[in-house]
Amino acid sequence: MTTKWVYSFDELDEAQEYVGGDWEKVRGFLGGKGANLAEMVRIDIPVPPGFTVTTEACNAYLDGGGSMPEGMWEQELEALKKVEDATGKKFGDPKNPLLVSCRSGGKFSMPGMMDTVLNIGLNDETAKGMIALTDDERFVYDAYRRLVAMFGSVVMGVPDEPFEEVLTAARKNAGVESDSDLTAEDWKAVTRKFMEIYRHQTHHEFPTDPLEQLKLATEAVFKSWNGKRAVDYRNAAGIAHDLGTAVNIVTMIFGNMGNDCATGVAMTRNGSTGENHLEGDYLTNAQGEDVVAGIRLTNNLQELQTEMPAAYGEFEQICQKLEKHYREMQDVEFTIENKKLWMLQTRDGKRTAQAAVRIAVEMVEDGLISREEAVMRVTPEQVDFFLHPQFSPEATKSAKSAGNLLAEGLNVSPGAACGVVAFDADLAEAWAQKENKQVIMVRPETKPDDVHGMLAAEGILTSRGGRTSHAALVARQFGKPAVVGVAELNLELAKRQMSVNDKVVHEGDWISIDGTSGVVYTGQLDTIVPDIKDPYLLKLLSWADDFRRLGVWANADYPRDAQRAREYGAEGIGLCRTEHMFFEAERLPLVQKMIMTDLPVEQKEALSALLPFQREDFAGLFRVMDGLPVIIRLIDPPLHEFLPNHIDLLRKLADLKIRLQQAGNLQEIDELLQQVKENESLLRRAEILREENPMLGLRGVRLGIHIPELTIMQVRAIFEAACEVSKEGISVHPEVMIPLTSHVNELRVQREILEAEAKKVMHEQALDIDYKFGTMIEIPRAALTTDQIAEYAQFISFGTNDLTQTTFGISRDDAEAGFLIEYMEKEILPTNPFAVIDEDGVGELMDIAVTKGRSVNADLECGICGEHGGEPQSINLCHRLGLTYVSCSPFRVPIARLAAAQAALNEKKASEA
Ligand code: PEP
Ligand code: MG
Repeated sequence: MTTKWVYSFDELDEAQEYVGGDWEKVRGFLGGKGANLAEMVRIDIPVPPGFTVTTEACNAYLDGGGSMPEGMWEQELEALKKVEDATGKKFGDPKNPLLVSCRSGGKFSMPGMMDTVLNIGLNDETAKGMIALTDDERFVYDAYRRLVAMFGSVVMGVPDEPFEEVLTAARKNAGVESDSDLTAEDWKAVTRKFMEIYRHQTHHEFPTDPLEQLKLATEAVFKSWNGKRAVDYRNAAGIAHDLGTAVNIVTMIFGNMGNDCATGVAMTRNGSTGENHLEGDYLTNAQGEDVVAGIRLTNNLQELQTEMPAAYGEFEQICQKLEKHYREMQDVEFTIENKKLWMLQTRDGKRTAQAAVRIAVEMVEDGLISREEAVMRVTPEQVDFFLHPQFSPEATKSAKSAGNLLAEGLNVSPGAACGVVAFDADLAEAWAQKENKQVIMVRPETKPDDVHGMLAAEGILTSRGGRTSHAALVARQFGKPAVVGVAELNLELAKRQMSVNDKVVHEGDWISIDGTSGVVYTGQLDTIVPDIKDPYLLKLLSWADDFRRLGVWANADYPRDAQRAREYGAEGIGLCRTEHMFFEAERLPLVQKMIMTDLPVEQKEALSALLPFQREDFAGLFRVMDGLPVIIRLIDPPLHEFLPNHIDLLRKLADLKIRLQQAGNLQEIDELLQQVKENESLLRRAEILREENPMLGLRGVRLGIHIPELTIMQVRAIFEAACEVSKEGISVHPEVMIPLTSHVNELRVQREILEAEAKKVMHEQALDIDYKFGTMIEIPRAALTTDQIAEYAQFISFGTNDLTQTTFGISRDDAEAGFLIEYMEKEILPTNPFAVIDEDGVGELMDIAVTKGRSVNADLECGICGEHGGEPQSINLCHRLGLTYVSCSPFRVPIARLAAAQAALNEKKASEA
């Protein structure tokens, strides 16, 4: 039996059977457009008669070096015959000619493919026949010239410009502004000129044989599959090159045969807001491309209701039927020819994030889809959209065309921000707070001293640093848009300006940064502010909560972060990094005093002074998290981080010594000497504490073992706060987390002293607090020995930032600022392992740890608090590993709720399949 290469629109059942029933396969076989046209025929929607040449035919044609596979052309002629029978017209018949369009249509719609040739079948003879039939010479020659130009440019590759020039000249000669004012004679002359251009450019006559037109158009569609633009597009969009395209041949319907004709496009719901009503544009007495090309001002679809009520009524019903059938918002094209409505295309409509959420929710309420489907239809990125201001699409488009794109960098913290440039933190803060200015803080990179400026700024821009640089981490923590690592940005801080090539921006000038895309613009762009309290989003997330198995907790250091986390749906605090509080102005001197002194009494004094601060920090968190678990991690970073930088100290000393030489009086000398002494002792301490590899040095649990007084103070603060708050009637569940354990003995020793202190406090306060002791898993050795660790830990939490560093043996700050980009470019690593968990290595360690840990304690609470906890692909892994919860920045909590639900639903689907 010969292969069937051509399917009439009414042969969908046959095509579906051939591919085995699956609709996705039908789309692959007939292309998206062809499959949907046939589907509309199947459900009795008026579609002009036509047929589809399959993608298999395309592949056979291309594989055969450009010759039609056996039987294909004959089948095309047969299908054409059926169309002739259905329409009562004949292809090439001068008396009653059939005209058709030829359109490409692959599985996915693809710019760069040959698109459309209309009015195939016209020649001098059939044109006359059409004139006799329609009594409209103007209409016929308008159609004819369109065929010659489209066929020339689309099939034969003739450039558009010569055709455009002829049109411009014709308008000028006739003294009219618009094509619609040209007469029949004008179009006749234009058609002749177009023929000449065709001959001149292709060295052939325009083919007058309709069958030759059809054949060449079919082949042109096939060939366009391998055109450069199509190949480039597929490469960029990750579409397979072996899919091929189908060819759709459809009876021409004319929307330009008089005032009872029209053509238009519509969406079954509003693509920007998601509102449930038809939206669209149409033109009376026009051809389809006129609507899209924007040559004439289109009418709002609603006006069709009064202009052609019957056709509109039918159209409305068809749209409802299509939505019901596809269970998706549809984007349709239609034409009305002498009052009769025809549907020319339907496909799923494009939409904004807001519309996607509203449509999904309302479709559930309309009974069109299930809650599961709604949750699966919205992407985590679309949820992210609600959390940050965005530049309006029009604003970015016009900024780019005005040449205001300054540079591009890493998009490390989403959202859009505009402000005047401030090159240091103090200025950023002063301008924002005292002068009420919107500020973008711009630095080479940021450090803890800059945080006040970052908090006051609308957004942060740095020329150096990677995805986990200080700027990126702080920005994400506080939900500030940020772009970092903009290497081409030349910062000239001394001149208070920055530049990219010849574009110079001075301090105080406006810039706009897009942390979602990583693009930086000069000037102030319009922003739109979506709303996390959007009722449709809240409903969708509440459904997501019903499906997920993973808990979603948040990383929060301060009560205000915890408050936000709770509002966004967090069910606990998975990580409070206590050391962040040590950097605050009143506390840093106390921390430094504790580090500097050799005298136990002084150390004790400093720690006692710190205790009330820490107690209040924790009490605040407990109050906000009433009833929910709060994991507080004991001090983690190496102590030198709390002392001034070594080089800064050397500079300061040099400066003091010069001033000492020039001092004018004894009192000044005394003061300077005192300062020299203090700074020398800071320097000595900094030198003692300096480590070759601080990341692998005296930090984490090692620090707690080395200076137990410090962690004991923290535990006392935690339990005193817990007792205090508990007495207020609040339900408190502290979990004390010990960082960076590598050997069970570290944990055993630390826990013993710390738990003793906890018990002591509870005894003093005569209260029992529901608490847990546990550890982070940040070192491969700990992961491999979690069965031993689980003897001393009631919970574990994967610190995948450090676990990734220690598994790869890569320092993330150095890597992200340096060779990691090269690794990804050379595809040595598929993705940044600090953004998406490396499943084969880090993921495997996590699996071992969970399995071994739960073999000892089946109820072991296992969570993750590294940054991966807010990343959808990593969340999916955490679900599969059976973790108890993921913990992430408050701003990612809604995203994690959706991603966790999707992970569960995907698993369910796979198990049912
Ligand atoms: C981690 O290592 O993943 C972690 C959460 O700790 P930090 O980022 O504070 O080192
Ligand atoms: Mg860590």
